[in-house]
Amino acid sequence: MVLLSGPNMAGNEWKYVKDCLDTGWVSSVGAYVDQFEKMTAAFAGTKYAVATSSGTTALHIALILSDVRPNDYVIAPNVTFVASCNVIRYVGADPILIDADEHTWQMDLDLLEDFLHNETEQKNGFCCLKKDGRRIPVIMPVHVLGNICDMDRLMQIANKHHLTVIEDSTEALGSYYKGKHAGSFGLMGTFSYNGNKIITTGGGGMIVTDDEALAKKAKHLTTQAKSDSFEYIHDEIGYNYRLVNVSAAMGVAQMEQLPSFIERKKEIIRFYKSALSGIGDIEFQKVIEDVNSNWWLPTLKTSRQREILKALNDQKLQSRPFWIPMNQLKMFRDDLYYHKDNRSDYIYTHCLSIPCSTNITNEEMERVVDSVKSVF
Ligand SMILES: *Cc1c(COP(=O)(O)O)cnc(C)c1O
Repeated sequence: MVLLSGPNMAGNEWKYVKDCLDTGWVSSVGAYVDQFEKMTAAFAGTKYAVATSSGTTALHIALILSDVRPNDYVIAPNVTFVASCNVIRYVGADPILIDADEHTWQMDLDLLEDFLHNETEQKNGFCCLKKDGRRIPVIMPVHVLGNICDMDRLMQIANKHHLTVIEDSTEALGSYYKGKHAGSFGLMGTFSYNGNKIITTGGGGMIVTDDEALAKKAKHLTTQAKSDSFEYIHDEIGYNYRLVNVSAAMGVAQMEQLPSFIERKKEIIRFYKSALSGIGDIEFQKVIEDVNSNWWLPTLKTSRQREILKALNDQKLQSRPFWIPMNQLKMFRDDLYYHKDNRSDYIYTHCLSIPCSTNITNEEMERVVDSVKSVF
């Protein structure tokens, strides 16, 4: 099987993990955790980084710290991975789902502006939904597939309507808008190190921010909110959302290779674009001029989606349709979905992601190309 996007353990992973095992520093604290956090902050251009047990738990903590309360709303894209919306429910809030741009597949900013203009009003310094008066304190853009929307415009819209921006940048490690790293625009950003992401720690995540107080609170909340390390005094409800040192050791080794992984992802998309552009009705995800994408997961748009998926998977070339839109999942079916001719569904029924692990061989990519072409 050629994996869709699998891990690449080509560097110092063995050495650093062995170091943890040899020294016994395997658990919830250790030098690798600190080092991984420092490397991430330096890479992302933020002052602070706090490691977490997953991208999902990073998002959960970010929402708690942006003071989202039960019965609030959080604006999120309808085209995203389910974790973005699940965490909104974890804090007792409901998502307001905004449809995607048909070319970039990011949240459509024209629609977002229409929604805010038509459906919301300011009350006591907060954006509120007109029809029920409930607060909308936060907007969560998701940098879908490592792509980024026009962030200057999004930040302007957010400021105008008093929305705090929390970035789900879990797919966008190594992506930039006007030279600024994904996750560094909002109050907080998040990364994921699940096995399919551009780097992996087996499982893990990170919160990045420029705000020292928030970084401290994030560390506190993710480590059981212990205020005294001798006597176990805990000053609020905390979480066990730590990244263990063994995972962080892998993370440090992966960070050392991140620049070369990003280069490889870019080679992979160049290869696929030159081999498949102009074949049938195939199009690739569009990236606006100001964005430098990490091209985490090359994804095609074509009316022959299902046939191509079958051809590829029959030959053990693991490929997947794009996510089912959030408004089609039963948990979010009754939530507000602001859309224009339901583009999310079009994206779902036309897009598919093709194998792109950083250690994929050129011969394997040739097989992917041949298989796609065979359908046409
Ligand atoms: C991977 C991912 C997450 C969750 O990260 P985990 O580490 O798997 O918890 C959240 N949002 C998006 C968009 C993702 O792709």
